Amino acid sequence: MPTPRFTPEELRQLHDLARQWAKIVSKRAFGDDGPGLDVDFRAMEQIATAAARGLTEGTLELLLQQQADKLSTEQPCPACGTLCPTTPHTRPLTADGAEVEQTERKAHCPDCRRDFFPPADGSGPG
Ligand SMILES: [Zn+2]
Repeated sequence: MPTPRFTPEELRQLHDLARQWAKIVSKRAFGDDGPGLDVDFRAMEQIATAAARGLTEGTLELLLQQQADKLSTEQPCPACGTLCPTTPHTRPLTADGAEVEQTERKAHCPDCRRDFFPPADGSGPG
């Protein structure tokens, strides 16, 4: 299954949506009146970077979790074809500006005594 691509317009709309959350970040960091005159640009940059990083990590983890939830709880072993139970499994992933816990499912074949990872697209052994 091909990965759906987003148009520049769709990406711009998502970007604009995230821009509106700046008010929430400012209020959370500095209160209703925003930063005082003693707050320098470096401190503002720290706040903005932390918020952007949190948004990136939260979005990626949610998308990966939603994808993992679509995998079935049993998968055929790629070696012998036995239907094997899968269990949730996480591993750290480094993305652009984010550290993400990727959720995936891992299966163990008792006959072959091997672990395998079901293909994300369900199209067979990878
Ligand atoms: Zn097997």
